[in-house]
Amino acid sequence: MCRHLGYLGPRMSVGGVLTDGDHSLRVQSYAPNDMRGGGTINADGFGVAWWQDGAVRSYRNPMPIWTDPAVDDVLPQLHSTSVIAAVRSATVGMPVERSACAPFTDGRWAFSHNGVVRGWPHSLTDLWSEVPVVDALTLPAPTDAAAVWMVLRQLLVTLKPAVALATLVRRIEERAPGSRLNFLLGDGENMYATAVHHALSVRRSDDAVTIASEPTDDSADWTHIDDRSLVVATTSKFTVSRLDEEEHT
Ligand code: GLN
Repeated sequence: MCRHLGYLGPRMSVGGVLTDGDHSLRVQSYAPNDMRGGGTINADGFGVAWWQDGAVRSYRNPMPIWTDPAVDDVLPQLHSTSVIAAVRSATVGMPVERSACAPFTDGRWAFSHNGVVRGWPHSLTDLWSEVPVVDALTLPAPTDAAAVWMVLRQLLVTLKPAVALATLVRRIEERAPGSRLNFLLGDGENMYATAVHHALSVRRSDDAVTIASEPTDDSADWTHIDDRSLVVATTSKFTVSRLDEEEHT
């Protein structure tokens, strides 16, 4: 089940975010430690989003990350204070194509889903009907993750990001119990992540935070995030709260 990673801190090479560490995101694509709920490797493409001059940019490829020379030749030349990246293991029945690779971007946002929505698409029919037709027509790909992103985009219009994510988890779980819903959302200055039936870890220093499905090395700096948690991180603030409480704050 895909692996994702978000970085916020001093300017860093975009390529480095993908390849730094003995257990970097690139290594996690072919040798992940903690896959749950099906899938053994993350060979169905990858994507990376970063922010430059206030705008989000991205690069995605439906081929395995280890086959793409741009990861070593081009992406290290780009730098950003925030990066969100994902390697994909397509859920059975969902297409392997560039447009299905996270992160999905829109405006200043970048979003990744590590997991699966049970019974998709039928389980989310009524949620989906709340998405304006014009947005539905721009559905990036016929996958659960892309559809969830459309619903989240709609929630973000009126709700604070943390509340929007908690609301999204609750609404999906009501309709599709047992779903795995690790979400990662960023706008270049803040990152938000949920842990719902999937692994999540965090590494913090005085001026940087990394949120990742799996630690990228075996240093003791990594903290495991409990299931059903919501992580909010800026360079100056970091909180982990219970998901089920977040919606009311
Ligand atoms: N279900 C999503 C997809 O297929 C995410 C896959 C995953 O986490 N393995 O795109």
